[in-house]
Amino acid sequence: MIKGKWHLPKSSAASDAELSLSATEYVLHTLERGNQVGSVDDIQISDRLGNIPRKIVFPDGSMFETTENDAIDAWQKKHRQQNNWLHKFESSMRLALVGVVVTAITVVLFYQYGLPAASKGLAYLVPDSVRQSLTDQTMESLDDSWFEASELPEARQAEIKAEFADVLHQLDLNPDDFPVAFRQMSIKRLDVSIPWEEECQTPDATSEPDSSPEGICDEPERTKLDIPNAFALPAGQVVFTDALVELSQSQDELNAIFLHEIAHVEKRHALQQMVRSSIITISLALMLGDVSGFEEIAIGIPVLLLGSKYSREFEAEADEYSFDQMIALDIDPINFANIMQRMEMTRASLDDQHKLGESLEDDTSNSDSEENQIDAIAEYLSTHPATQKRVEAAKQASAKMQNR
Ligand SMILES: [Zn+2]
Repeated sequence: MIKGKWHLPKSSAASDAELSLSATEYVLHTLERGNQVGSVDDIQISDRLGNIPRKIVFPDGSMFETTENDAIDAWQKKHRQQNNWLHKFESSMRLALVGVVVTAITVVLFYQYGLPAASKGLAYLVPDSVRQSLTDQTMESLDDSWFEASELPEARQAEIKAEFADVLHQLDLNPDDFPVAFRQMSIKRLDVSIPWEEECQTPDATSEPDSSPEGICDEPERTKLDIPNAFALPAGQVVFTDALVELSQSQDELNAIFLHEIAHVEKRHALQQMVRSSIITISLALMLGDVSGFEEIAIGIPVLLLGSKYSREFEAEADEYSFDQMIALDIDPINFANIMQRMEMTRASLDDQHKLGESLEDDTSNSDSEENQIDAIAEYLSTHPATQKRVEAAKQASAKMQNR
């Protein structure tokens, strides 16, 4: 029997009362109402807070208050394990929810601020030997799968390289740190059947691997793609496609692109991006116990370079560097805007042709007049705000240079 005070709902008036609790029933004895009996499932017992009187609320809203905390605890311990468990579960659910929210906020903050800072720091810690081997491996894999030898005349290649070396000298950079290469892009033709694969996957045990006759184990036929593009590999190797050289209308335009690529190397953008996605992949792998993501890190660099998948922030940084250096070298940044627009237009029309399934040579006639071209550029840019922004920035840098 637990002694206490009984309060009617919303009343501060109290009278003496006694409560007894069994496994299933409670009996509340008050002078006013005698014995009231009910199920213990229908009463709410407040949590214990030190020696503060416990409150037990009944279905009618009346309330029993007692200082016999120990007696209540003893009954709860004996009969309400399940409810205690539920109670604990509920409060741990609340705790878990708080945990999830805190974790989410931490992840977002880390992703937004911590990760870029950490990646930047780590990117500069990558030793030269690792940069070099990343570069060599990447170049090798690009040569295997995406590149073909350049068809630019040797003399033309040498001329461009000499101009780039001159630019680097003027900027106190060593041309040996930024070797330049020319390539054509190509893809495997998927429309032709390849007898090659079946024949070569079951090599004849008696023959030497290299003795297979020419033509049987050849690479599948490839289609050249005239995609104007330039890349910089982590150790400083800069690659220009033939199509980009052909698209340029002056050495200054090539210099503009070259300086942009130099910036990617100097600011270690490829490494930063690689470290970023590695941290994400490794974190996810550790959290989810799935290690298949590790392979993606290895194949990530060629994809990154080919897709020009640098973040906007990196592109903007490289552009700014390029404009500053151009102004220092007395090259008008408008050259960057010009070749950038031409590059994007060409890529867009390649995309369209690709979508329409037309041949690459076919569709150059309908944008003949200059007016049409300008319209097309304007239309393209309006749907590519990122490119438009970069072109605008180049024009602003050019205006700044003119007004010096
Ligand atoms: Zn870039």
